[in-house]
Amino acid sequence: MRTLTNATHDPALRSWVGSANDGTSDFPIQNLPYGRFRRAGSDEPWRIGVAIGDQVLDLRLASEQAPWADDLQPLLAPLAAGDLNAFMALGSAAWSRMRAALSTAFAEDSVQAPFLELCLLPQAACEMALPCRIGDYTDFYSGIHHATTIGKLFRPDNPLLPNYKWVPIGYHGRSSSIGLSGVVKRPRGQTLAPGAQAPAFGPSAKLDYELEVGAFVGRANALGEPVAMDAAEEALFGLVLLNDWSARDLQAWEYQPLGPFLAKNFASSISPWIVTMEALAPFRRPFTRPEGDPQPLPYLDGAFNRQAGAIDIVLEAWLQSAAMRAAGQPALRLSRSNMSDAYWTWAQMLTHHASNGCNLQPGDLLGSGTLSGADDDGRGSLMELSANGRTPIALPGGESRSFLQDGDTLTLRAYCRQPGAVRIGFGEVSGTIVG
Ligand code: MN
Repeated sequence: MRTLTNATHDPALRSWVGSANDGTSDFPIQNLPYGRFRRAGSDEPWRIGVAIGDQVLDLRLASEQAPWADDLQPLLAPLAAGDLNAFMALGSAAWSRMRAALSTAFAEDSVQAPFLELCLLPQAACEMALPCRIGDYTDFYSGIHHATTIGKLFRPDNPLLPNYKWVPIGYHGRSSSIGLSGVVKRPRGQTLAPGAQAPAFGPSAKLDYELEVGAFVGRANALGEPVAMDAAEEALFGLVLLNDWSARDLQAWEYQPLGPFLAKNFASSISPWIVTMEALAPFRRPFTRPEGDPQPLPYLDGAFNRQAGAIDIVLEAWLQSAAMRAAGQPALRLSRSNMSDAYWTWAQMLTHHASNGCNLQPGDLLGSGTLSGADDDGRGSLMELSANGRTPIALPGGESRSFLQDGDTLTLRAYCRQPGAVRIGFGEVSGTIVG
């Protein structure tokens, strides 16, 4: 088995950026995620930055202002140019070399500190953009507890379709409507009311969220060339939070026979910082199948995948209504689940996607599917929490919810924590519904 962790994961590492050491920041020196930013309210060009504590390191300034080893110049060049896709295309050895250099640069005893201090901007003073150009977006369905709960609503005796445990199910989504935190406009569309003879066109009455993780493809594969499981690990750049907003009433009417269409392509939201796969190394877990379930076909199997294919990431969804906000009431946590409960690993999803020769490109986004837990506390959508509206959930202040109402703010958060490692987080992605 390859060595997963290295000096950049050392829990004893501390940074000269004080806020990175407080034990609560999502972005300690062990994380080092990439994002694209500029000074809020400015019309400056977007820059690639690295989050550290409550600051952002401007990699264009840093490449100009601080001394770096010669071999880092070709790695810094695309980052300084604001082109994360080009950096992704360099491959995992380059990503790892850059991470080691950033770790050294941010460490307490760094000789670059006096130069890099001048290249920091508070995150609070930044606005963020999508971290890279997202060419294509595919959403999988790897949350087996979500698939089972949703399946039960429609097929109580046979919740999982026969292909589920053999093939990573997915659909091609739309990249143009992927954005960051902000306003989400309630979609309009065709719905068929219960008992109605004909559909009507109007605002969705069953607007929902889906708690997901997104994976950015780093390394391309050529058209016609599949990606083996080990190579798939090397092709994955990093992870973000993903909210796959879903209009359940549009979905129910349109989804057969070709799958989701307008019910999901009106908006998808991601968190702005890409947490690299290397940063997640201490939180890897064995991939296992429950007793009696089929083992993956050989092309989706591998020694590394069995030993460390899964990732322990705690995922949370939070809701604050307009009335709660007005009353100073904090957001209510709707669920807590874990990425390691997914039925397929990222390597399996990427390998399957390319198994027919489909060419993946740097910056392509893969969605995990809704990641629910096995119990009631872990349901990653309102469709599950309210049993499709049959059992509305109670909010503080006397309101209830089956689906999202105008003015509701839905926030996703995630973090990794385990003994012997420093906690790292994903930041958050949030959306407020408007009519
Ligand atoms: Mn989804």
